[in-house]
Amino acid sequence: MSIIGFIGLGNMGAPMAANLVKAGQRVLGFDVLPGSRWASAEHGVQVVASARRSVEDADIVITMLPGGEQVLSVWKDVLPAAKSGALLIDCSTIDVASARAAHALAAERGIDSLDAPVSGGVGGANAATLTFMVGGTEQAFARGKPVLERMGKRIIHCGEAGNGQTAKICNNLILGASMIAVSEAFVLAEKLGLSHQAMFDVVSSSSGQCWSLTSYCPVPGPVPASPANNGYKAGFTAALMLKDLNLARQAAQSVGAQAALGAHAAEIYEQFAQQGHSASDFSAIINLVRQESERR
Ligand code: NAD
Repeated sequence: MSIIGFIGLGNMGAPMAANLVKAGQRVLGFDVLPGSRWASAEHGVQVVASARRSVEDADIVITMLPGGEQVLSVWKDVLPAAKSGALLIDCSTIDVASARAAHALAAERGIDSLDAPVSGGVGGANAATLTFMVGGTEQAFARGKPVLERMGKRIIHCGEAGNGQTAKICNNLILGASMIAVSEAFVLAEKLGLSHQAMFDVVSSSSGQCWSLTSYCPVPGPVPASPANNGYKAGFTAALMLKDLNLARQAAQSVGAQAALGAHAAEIYEQFAQQGHSASDFSAIINLVRQESERR
């Protein structure tokens, strides 16, 4: 049995760590928030007093933190305490440059590392059905895959260091823009007198078909499990969508890629967040589209 250090026991980290415990692993967990530590202790995580304490005996260390700044600061703190054969895996969603900087910190100490952001949200974390998009060497991937399989269903090696984060932000650029496009189409259909169900029935079997429509439909009715049927309770928050669109915008600027739709999607989610809807599910963006349409 390998020992796993787990740092960041929040909405995602807590159920991921709990699934490792369920799979029979010994998990040494740490979070700066006492409430998160207590909650994870109830799920069998052995809570320790600091991030460093969680890595000292660990074969594998997983971080699940808010952003690149926290990841770099925690990795700088814990790497000197890590065992020489340890593997560090960051599952947070962070900017590609910080992910590559974190890999470089680990490499300086001769320690294997992976960036392995996830999709699937809190539901996927609870059900251990996350998709992991993984960047790093073949050797590090081969070592990390079995532990990621305890928390997810699809583990995809995307290539070199940072490529997991690249895959993640590219996916969410499509998701953010497609959710706005689907929302605009529903609001236009409403104004022209077409029912939600008729619009869904046609588009879900036509060329406009996409995940934002068929799995996460932003109007109540056609897809009973979508957050629209539950007051837009997240799900995946508008704040996290804005975060990921900003990461995509920043990455596009850094390499000179044209991403006009992604940048505009970020502006629309920014406006939604400024209206106080950061905690709503990101599909609630249809309410902003409707509100703006009423003003015309
Ligand atoms: P969260 O805010 O619930 O959890 C982050 C945890 O990290 C918190 O408990 C916080 O106290 C802890 N933390 C912060 N700084 C720390 C430090 N220095 N040392 C130890 N602990 C520290 O966030 P989350 O929803 O669990 O998301 C985590 C990551 O996963 C983010 O990067 C997010 O973008 C990504 N993500 C989230 C979702 C989702 O649906 N929530 C989906 C996919 C990806």
